[in-house]
Amino acid sequence: MIKLYNSKTLNVEEFKPIKEGHVDMYVCGPTVYNYAHIGNARPMVVFDVLKRLFEAEGYSVTYVSNFTDVDDKIINKAIEENTTEAVIAQRYIDAYQDVRKMLNTEVPDITPRVTETMDGIISFIKELVDNGSAYVSDNGDVYFSVEADPEYGEISHQRLDQLEAGARIEVNDGKKNPYDFALWKKTDKGIQWDSPWGKGRPGWHTECVVMINQNLGEYIDIHGGGMDLKFPHHENEAAQQECTHHNALANFWVHNAMINIDGQKMSKSLGNTLWAKDIVEKLGTNLTRWLMSSVHYRKELNFSEETVETARKELDKVLNPLRQVDIKSQLASASFDDYDEVSYRLFLDQLDDDLNTPNAYTVIFDTVKKINQGLRTKEPDWNTVIGLRNSVVKMLSVLGIVVDRVVLDEEDKALFTKWNEAKANKDWDGADQYRNALIAKGLM
Ligand SMILES: [Zn+2]
Repeated sequence: MIKLYNSKTLNVEEFKPIKEGHVDMYVCGPTVYNYAHIGNARPMVVFDVLKRLFEAEGYSVTYVSNFTDVDDKIINKAIEENTTEAVIAQRYIDAYQDVRKMLNTEVPDITPRVTETMDGIISFIKELVDNGSAYVSDNGDVYFSVEADPEYGEISHQRLDQLEAGARIEVNDGKKNPYDFALWKKTDKGIQWDSPWGKGRPGWHTECVVMINQNLGEYIDIHGGGMDLKFPHHENEAAQQECTHHNALANFWVHNAMINIDGQKMSKSLGNTLWAKDIVEKLGTNLTRWLMSSVHYRKELNFSEETVETARKELDKVLNPLRQVDIKSQLASASFDDYDEVSYRLFLDQLDDDLNTPNAYTVIFDTVKKINQGLRTKEPDWNTVIGLRNSVVKMLSVLGIVVDRVVLDEEDKALFTKWNEAKANKDWDGADQYRNALIAKGLM
């Protein structure tokens, strides 16, 4: 039984799929005006692990994540570089997909774009205007009226009257309520489309609702994204669905916490932005993923030299014994294809509990401890030791960490034989020489 924290109910709840054995999951994607930073990499990893967990537990998953390819920042960059918005967007979409591959995250099944969803977005806004949930303001923009949804505030647990009382009101003459948000912006700058409200482009909050309805259906299992999207973006998405389809958009709202750099929020003004590509290139896929999952997804993750080094030591502690099993079992001509079901089940149980990766790590360490104990015995019980090794490899694969089996060729085996013979003959110089050769091959 998989349990997940639902931001909407503020509870860890049992996951019950809408369609038997299947999960429909939508995660808000990036606005493609720049490269992915390390903060963008966290939802990539979190929702990838969640998808892998569902699959490990026997579900099929349809994973949809959009690209926001219409936005002021994209338009400004196109003007700056004297090119089209399409060129700018494609550059960063490609770069984003590259980072996904580098991180060994499965690329979403469907990646809809705003530019390809425009007809649907315009007719959805028209429906809201026609049923009185949205209005055309004096300046020609179209706004959603938050008062049209009596449940407004249900995702972020804020009441409209409290919001109004406590908030600094953004000065905008066109709005009836300060929390009304733009569905359509009238503009003559940059890329624009014809609409019943004149030439312009859509606001940000409508696209995901339309993309969910078009690609997955009216009511999906999981809507995910970073914690920063809960309000107003997800609140606004939910409100639009209530006012058109009269149903909740998603069963579970799942949000990941942010990443800090050296204990500080990552921001342009602090100049501490770390690009995801640079980090993965520097640390490698496995270490980046190990670090990302070392903290529970609802807790902030601190990225620093210290946390990277801790992660590196932990991962070595896991991977080295696996290599030792590969090498020593082959030298003993032992092989075993099965895995230890008990430890693997225990590992999945931890992840089933609201993706508790830190507790899952404890199971990995405990299993590795048993492997080390097995390796230390004079005549290891290879079926047990290799079974535990295979179990850890399976656990790591749920975390997106790939471990290749070390395969010894005849030359390697001969080197081990010579090393052992030299030691037996007390030929210490020879033993050192063979040992160094094994180290050079990465076999020690
Ligand atoms: Zn969204």
